[in-house]
Formats: sequence, structure tokens, C-alpha cells
Amino acid sequence: PFDASPAEGDSAQMAGGVVAIIHDVTEEQRLEQSRRDFIANVSHELRTPLANIKGYTETVLDTPDLTGEERERFLSVVTGEADRMARIVKDLLVLSRLDSNKMDLHFVPFSMEASLRKVYEAMLIDARKHAVELTLEIDHSVSEVVGDCERIEQVLVNIISNAVKYTPEGGAVRVEAEQSADAVFVKVTDNGIGIPKEDLPHVFERFYRVDKARSRAAGGTGLGLAIAKEMVEAHGGSIDIKSRLGEGTEVFLTFPVLQRMI
Ligand code: ADP
Repeated sequence: PFDASPAEGDSAQMAGGVVAIIHDVTEEQRLEQSRRDFIANVSHELRTPLANIKGYTETVLDTPDLTGEERERFLSVVTGEADRMARIVKDLLVLSRLDSNKMDLHFVPFSMEASLRKVYEAMLIDARKHAVELTLEIDHSVSEVVGDCERIEQVLVNIISNAVKYTPEGGAVRVEAEQSADAVFVKVTDNGIGIPKEDLPHVFERFYRVDKARSRAAGGTGLGLAIAKEMVEAHGGSIDIKSRLGEGTEVFLTFPVLQRMI
């Protein structure tokens, strides 16, 4: 019915108009649906730890003969769940600021090399804990980029910790950086569990997780990649992901380099 062939008088033009209106409504409905899904997701994500906090606290209160060890175990679940809620709320605040352009980004020239080395050092402990080998290779010519250094470091932490988290013991994660005429590229490669093809287009969506239980157990909020994407885009850069199930994942980050005025 929506023939795109050249207009044939008034009716064809009318048809064109109708198509445009239908399209608009669909887009509006899609946005409305994604807003509803988002609110449902937030509620669900907060309700689960809240239910655990209530359950374990009540058990401690209602069971006077708990051993000291049991009490400690239950209360550590409670603080763990409170920490999870705090992480979710913190990530949501970052996203909400990014959405409304109210994120206070301090753009200054900074050394991507220094940031990568700092993040790498910090992540070594995490990698060792997971028995994953972490390596860093930086092209000698990586130049400065302009941006909010702390926020970019947070993005790097997110991506590298994902790589470590989703790589079984004995695996390897490689962080590489190189330079082109107008951009710095960072690539994080792991040989971990990989992402199924059908899930790959969705991993930058808020709360999207391939394996919810695994992500939760690893302390994930499902918001890390969504934040990374928006943050990198707020810096004029881009983020891309390639993956093969059971073989591993590659995440590519691109940051534009300020061209010096002559
Ligand atoms: P999470 O907090 O769950 O890690 P993210 O937004 O960081 O959330 O990532 C979304 C999902 O993408 C993860 O739950 C996981 O399923 C998948 N994922 C991200 N990075 C990797 C990776 N390096 N290897 C395998 N799966 C990954």
C-alpha cells in the first residue's frame, strides 16, 4: 500500500502524507513504550534488593537464637544489597544527567596514556582475583585528548571490568591504544564467554543483560555499557562492540583528538 513510486496526482501525495503521520505516531508510541519499560525495569531492579533487605533483616529480628556467624552472614547480605541499590541509583543519576545535558563535564586536555596506565594498574588487582591475565599495549604516539578525564577513566574501568567479569579463569584481557591523524583508538579484547548474536544489538540498552543472574552475581547493574556509550558520545567519540559466543568480545572506543590551530 505504501508505494514509493513517483507521485501520481493528488491521491499519491495524500498517501505520502498519511505514511508520514503513521510513522510519527509509531515513533511516539515507541518512545512511550520505552519510557514505560524503563520505569518498570527501574522498579524491578530496586524491588529485588529491597525485598532481600527486608527479608534478611526480619529474619535477624525474629530469630533470637541465631548464632553470631549466622547473624553476620545475614547482615552482610543486607549491606551487599544496600550497596547494589546505591550503585543502581548512582548509575541512574549519571544517565539522567546525561539525558538532560546537566552532566557537569570538565573538558580539559589530558593524557589518554596516563589514564590508561592508571586504570590498568587499578584493574590488575581485580584481574588477579579472577585469575585473568591483563595486559596493556600503548602505541608510543598516543596523544592527548580533550575531555573529562575522570569520566573517561570510569568508562575504561567499566569496559575493562566487564572483560574481566565475563572471562573465565585462565583467560586473557588485552587493552590496546593507538593513534590516527585525528583520533585515539582504545580496544579491549577478551577471550571470555562472548555474547550471542541476537543479544549483541541490545547490550547498550539500559538494564539489558544477557544473563541476569551472572551479571547480578558479578555486581553488575546492567547500566555500565549504556553509560559508557552516552559518555563517549558526549565527548564526540564512539563505542562499538564485536563478539562471538564462546570465543570472546572486542570493545572499540574512539576519541577525537583536538586539531591544533595553526
Ligand atoms: P552489567 O552491569 O550487567 O555488566 P553492562 O551494561 O556493563 O551491564 O553490560 C551489559 C551486558 O552485556 C552484560 O550483562 C553482559 O551480558 C554483556 N557483556 C558486556 N561486556 C561483555 C564482555 N566483555 N563479554 C561478555 N559479555 C559482556
